[in-house]
Amino acid sequence: MKAVAVFPADRAIRVIDHPETPLRGETEVRLKILEVGVCGTDREIASFEYGTPPQGSPYLIIGHESLGEVIEVGSAVDRFRPGDLVVTMVRRPCGLSECPACAAGRPDFCVTGKFTERGIGGRHGFMTERVVDDQQYMIALPQSLWEVGVLVEPLTIAEKALIEVGEVQDRLPWLKVGAPEPKIATTQKAVVLGAGPVGLLGAMALLRRGFMTWVYSLEPDGSPKALWVQSVGGHYLCSKDVPIDALAHTVGNIDLIYEATGASQIAFKAMEALGVNGVFILTGVPGRKGPIEIDADLIMRNLVLKNQLVYGTVNAGQDAFQAAVADLGEFHRRWPEPLAALITGHYAPEACPELLLGPPAGIKRVVTFAPES
Ligand code: BGC
Repeated sequence: MKAVAVFPADRAIRVIDHPETPLRGETEVRLKILEVGVCGTDREIASFEYGTPPQGSPYLIIGHESLGEVIEVGSAVDRFRPGDLVVTMVRRPCGLSECPACAAGRPDFCVTGKFTERGIGGRHGFMTERVVDDQQYMIALPQSLWEVGVLVEPLTIAEKALIEVGEVQDRLPWLKVGAPEPKIATTQKAVVLGAGPVGLLGAMALLRRGFMTWVYSLEPDGSPKALWVQSVGGHYLCSKDVPIDALAHTVGNIDLIYEATGASQIAFKAMEALGVNGVFILTGVPGRKGPIEIDADLIMRNLVLKNQLVYGTVNAGQDAFQAAVADLGEFHRRWPEPLAALITGHYAPEACPELLLGPPAGIKRVVTFAPES
C-alpha cells in the first residue's frame, strides 16, 4: 500500500510501497485512512531535525494527525464497527516497570522518555492507505464531523492544557461558584500567542469556555486571520501595532496566556504581561538557536507576588481526545464556516515533499487518500 516515508540515511522523503500489517491481536482494528494533517513537527521530521524510524527500519512513515474509517475489527473489539470514523492517538507507553505514568495509561506523562509516537518516534505513522492499531488508542468521531475530524489531534493540545487549567485554577474557589462547565469563570481574559492551527483552535476552545480572548500575532489588522478571529468572537492584536510590552495595558489583567508560536523570545517577553493569579501555558517547541536575554528578576517577582503558574504541555491522553471531539462538535455548531476555513488545502500524498519542504502556507494542510476501488 502507498505510504509517505522519510529516509534519514539518504535524507530523502518518498512515496513508497509499504507492506500491509495483519491484524495480530483480538482487540486490533484496521482503518482506511481518509485524511492526515501536516504540522510543524512533520516539517522538522522532513528536515531530519526530529523523528526516528522504528527499530530496524530504514524509514519512518510520517503522519500523526489522522482521520480513518474502520474497515476490519478483531474478534474482541467492542467499541467500533466497520464504517465508524475514528481518530487515532499518537503516543504509546514505554512499557517499563519504573514508569508509573505509562502503567496508569498516561504515556503523555511518561517519565522514562522511552515512549514511542506514531509517525514521529519509533513507530510508523498514519500517512498511508491503511493502519492497524489497538482499539484503546482510537477515539470515535461522529459522522457529522467528517470534514473537520482531522483537526481533533491538533485540538488535543489545547484540550490537555485546558483540563490542566481547570485543575490548577481549582485553587481559586470563587471561580467555581456558578461557573459553567468546565469550571472556568466567564469574566476571565486570555491571550493566545500565534495564529497558526494550534493558536486558532486554542482560541476557539477558550472562547467556548467563556474567556474573553485576544489573539496576538504578526499578520496585520484586517488580514484574513484577523478577520477569522473576529468571526468567532475574539479580538485580534497585530504585534506591529501593539508591542508586547503594551499587551497588559491593552488587555487588562491577563488571566491566561496560551503560547502557540514556538518562539522563546516572544514567550518570555509575554510572560512579563501575565496578570494576578495568571496561568501561562507553553505549547511550542523552539529550535535550539542559542540563549536569549530575559528579565528574570521581573518574571520571578511576578511569579511569586502574583501567584502565577507557568507550565508546558505535550501530547494528550484519552480525556483530551474525548474533549477535543466534544469541542469540535460544539465549534461545528457555533462556527461552522470559520471551523471549516481552518483547513486550507487538500493534497495527494505525492505532494508531501513540497508541503513539508516548501514555504509554510495556509493554516491546516491535509493529505487525502483516494477512496479505494
Ligand atoms: C504531536 C504530539 C507529540 C509532540 C512531540 C506534536 O506535534 O502533536 O503528539 O507528542 O509533537 O513529539
